[in-house]
Amino acid sequence: MRKIAVIGTGYVGLVTGACFAEIGHQVKCLDIDEKKIYDLSKGIIPFYEPGLEDLVKENLENNRLFFTTNSSFAFHDAEVIYIAVGTPAKEDGSSNLEYIFRAANNIAKYATKNVIVVTKSTVPVGTNERIKELITMNGLKVEVVSNPEFLREGQAINDTFRGDRIIIGSDNDTAATVIEEINQHFHVKVIHTDIKSAEMIKYASNAFLATKISFINEISTICEKLGANIEDVAYGMGLDSRIGTQFLKAGIGYGGSCFPKDTKSLVQIAGNVKHKFDLLEAVINVNNKQQVKLVEQAMARFGNLQGLNVALLGLSFKPNTDDVRESASIVMTNRLLEEGVSITAYDPVAIEKAKSVLPSEVHFTKDIVEALYLADMAFIITDWDEIKRLPLSVYENMMRTPVIYDGRNCYSIEAVKQHRVEYHSIGRKSVK
Ligand code: NAD
Repeated sequence: MRKIAVIGTGYVGLVTGACFAEIGHQVKCLDIDEKKIYDLSKGIIPFYEPGLEDLVKENLENNRLFFTTNSSFAFHDAEVIYIAVGTPAKEDGSSNLEYIFRAANNIAKYATKNVIVVTKSTVPVGTNERIKELITMNGLKVEVVSNPEFLREGQAINDTFRGDRIIIGSDNDTAATVIEEINQHFHVKVIHTDIKSAEMIKYASNAFLATKISFINEISTICEKLGANIEDVAYGMGLDSRIGTQFLKAGIGYGGSCFPKDTKSLVQIAGNVKHKFDLLEAVINVNNKQQVKLVEQAMARFGNLQGLNVALLGLSFKPNTDDVRESASIVMTNRLLEEGVSITAYDPVAIEKAKSVLPSEVHFTKDIVEALYLADMAFIITDWDEIKRLPLSVYENMMRTPVIYDGRNCYSIEAVKQHRVEYHSIGRKSVK
C-alpha cells in the first residue's frame, strides 16, 4: 500500500484515484474546484462514467479515498504525487501548460518530503524536465516519471484494470520500480522507457489513431462517389492482421478532449524542431471537413434550410460519455443555425454538458420521439444504443419529411429499404 496524492479530479484523475484506492492504496484527490470536491466527498460524480460512482462511494466508505482542496493535507504524507490536470489547446494549437505548472509550483510549495511526481496528463516532450526544475527549485529532491494515460471515456475503469499497456518513462530505476509496483494489481503489461519517449508515445498513439479515422473517412467519400460500400471495404481491409479491424469505422470525424488537441499539439511540437508534419496536418483538415459534411449535403439537398425543423440525435462525441468537448455536434449546430433552422437536440446523458457549449436557441429533450416530431431532417451524430435501436418506423411516422443523415451508419441499407425514408449515410449509396 502506498500513500498517493492525485492532482486534478477530471476524467483521468478521478478514475486513477478511485482505481488506486480500489486496489488498496490510500489516495487523496486534490482539485481547485471547491464545488466538485464538495460533491465528490459526498459520492456525487461530476460527469457520466459507467461504474465510477460505485467505485468512489465504496472507497470513500472504507477510508481509502479522500477529496480535498487543501494542498498541505494532500501532500504532507504522500510518497507519490500524480499530476492529472487538463492540458487544453491554445489558440495556435499548442498545449496550454498553465495548469501543469501551477500544479508543479503547488508541489514545490506544499510537499514537505522528497517525493516521486508522476505526470499522467498529456504533455509535450520536454515538459517533465521543466516540472522537475520547478519543483527542485524549492530544495526538494524529486524524481519525475512520465506515465501517460490511455483510458477511453465510457470504459475508463475497464481500461485501467485491463489496458493494453502502462508506459513508465523515467531516468531513475528506483522511481520506475515504485510506479510499477503501484500498478502491479492491474495486471497490465508495463513498458519502461526514458521520459521523452514516454511523452512521445502518447502523442504518436493518438495521432496514429486519428490518422486511421481520417484515412477511412477519405476512403468513404471516394466510395460514395464510386458506388462502393465502405462497410464492406473496411471489413475486407481489417481482416489483414497488419491493418486490424479497429478504428476503421467511417463516420463524421473524431472529436473529444484528446484527439483534436493532441493532433494539433503534435503539429506544433514538430514545428518547434523545424519539422512540418504534413501528414498530420492533412489528417486534421480531413477531420474538419468531415464534421460538416452531412450538413453541406443537406444544404445541397434542400437548397434553403431557413425555417426548417432539424432533429439532432446524440450530442456527446461518442456513446457512453457525457463529454461534448470538440464533438461534431457543436460544429454542426453552429453551421445549421447560421442557415436559420430550428433545432431540437436529443441525448440520453449529455444535455447538461451540451447546454454550456451550444447556443441557447437549441431546444433539448431526453425524449427521442419528441426530437423527431415534425422534423424536416434528422442528423444522427452519436451511436448511442438508444439511437441504434430506434425503429426506422419512428422516423417514418413522426417526421414531417423523413430525411435522415446518419453520421454513424447505424442502420443497414437493407433495413432502410423496408421503410418510406430518405437515408444518407457515410460511404454508402443513399436510399431515396
Ligand atoms: P479534465 O478537464 O476533465 O479535468 C482536469 C481537472 O484538473 C479539473 O477538475 C480541474 O479543476 C483540475 N485542475 C486544474 N488545475 C488544477 C490545479 N492546479 N490543482 C488541482 N486541480 C486542478 O481533464 P481530463 O479529461 O481528466 O484530462 C486530464 C489530462 O489527461 C489531459 O492532459 C488529457 O489530455 C489527458 N488524458 C485525458 C483522457 C480523457 O479521456 N479525458 C485520456 C487520456 C489522457
